[in-house]
Amino acid sequence: MALHKLVVISLDSMGFRDLDEFREFIPHLDQLIKRGTWVKRVRGIFPTLTYPSHTSIITGQYPAIHGIVNNTKIQPQRESPDWYWYRKDVKAMPLYDVAREAGLTTAAFLWPVTAGSKINYNLAEIFPNRIWTNQVLVSLKASSPLFLYQMNHRYGKLRRGIKQPWLDDFVTACAVDTIKNKRPDLTLIHLVDMDSMRHRNGVRSPQAKAALQRLDRRVAKIIQASRDAGTYDDTDFVILGDHYQINVDKMIHLNMAFAKQGLLTPIKGKSTYKNNWRVTAKTCDGETYIYTKGYVDLNKLKQLIAGVEGVERIYSGAEAVKLGADPKCSFLVEAKPGYYFTDEVNRPAIVEKVDPGSLGTHDRYRAVHGYGPNQPNYFTTAIFVGPSINQGKEVETAHLVDEGPTFAKILGLHYPAPTAGQVIPGVIKSEVK
Ligand SMILES: [Zn+2]
Repeated sequence: MALHKLVVISLDSMGFRDLDEFREFIPHLDQLIKRGTWVKRVRGIFPTLTYPSHTSIITGQYPAIHGIVNNTKIQPQRESPDWYWYRKDVKAMPLYDVAREAGLTTAAFLWPVTAGSKINYNLAEIFPNRIWTNQVLVSLKASSPLFLYQMNHRYGKLRRGIKQPWLDDFVTACAVDTIKNKRPDLTLIHLVDMDSMRHRNGVRSPQAKAALQRLDRRVAKIIQASRDAGTYDDTDFVILGDHYQINVDKMIHLNMAFAKQGLLTPIKGKSTYKNNWRVTAKTCDGETYIYTKGYVDLNKLKQLIAGVEGVERIYSGAEAVKLGADPKCSFLVEAKPGYYFTDEVNRPAIVEKVDPGSLGTHDRYRAVHGYGPNQPNYFTTAIFVGPSINQGKEVETAHLVDEGPTFAKILGLHYPAPTAGQVIPGVIKSEVK
């Protein structure tokens, strides 16, 4: 048995601004801030995407080390490429494995990149990407099968496929049930309602604000579950975001510029292209990786990219590694706020306005993330609260990679290798060793 239990709740796309400006509308989170330590501005990683960010949170490493450099894989012939779903793609030690090796019980609910992991109670985030598979089939393969069966049996009626806000209601019900009945030592929960609403309606839309209020109530339900289980007095809670979002109205289809130069071959009548590319843009939305095969004049390529409307900055491959991004890229390109990258070809122009009628279809958004973490007002945030945590304190800044090492310290665990992040000073009560 662990000295303390830890419950980490990730509210996808929650930014510093949400807690700074909307506290009067989110009474439960407001109470937690007052009773715990609020780490106000948490700087994200390159790129500020959900899967790389959650893997940095749980390993304390940057993507260059943990290997989850993007949400999705390079599969140019697929309109909807596979995501990095599987634990085996994570090249650094996640905290849930450190915990399990120390004899603690672990649970995870849609925590990214945990499919096929040895988490005791795991509902893995994985969705059907092929017309011949379905949600239950792929989830069964990737989650703890009996656990998924029981959860679906009890709470499946709350779900409408993977649509929000019903998916988060399902996930919350499963987490509440598991905290009450299994009392895991480490619980990781990922709720995606607000991120979905922002992509569809804008960062500070009424829909996003309503989602934040729903999340506030879900957090309260999860904390109440630990009271019902009798574990509340020994449980520390962390409520955190993974990145913020930025509103957009224009897309940049860089692969069209490469196709014009004969560097890749579009597939007729589709937005995809063939595997024989020499240069390809692989989108992270607000940023894009550029990969090259064989000899390519990188100076000429850089000039070509720099001439495209909406490109804010181009990092060389060497700079990208220093920033913790994919060491295999030739460039990492950042869009100006308002623009985002796609992988598409065969569009009307390299830079295209987002047609409002297309919102909600594949890769058509009102807001995105995936920019570099230096964009203004783009911080995420974290609230720590519980018996090990200082009361009524605020910490001005931290890095996303500092969160895992702080969780490890709370649980009395040690990562097997040094982490990029450090325990956040001022969060944990000094008497807790
Ligand atoms: Zn996210």
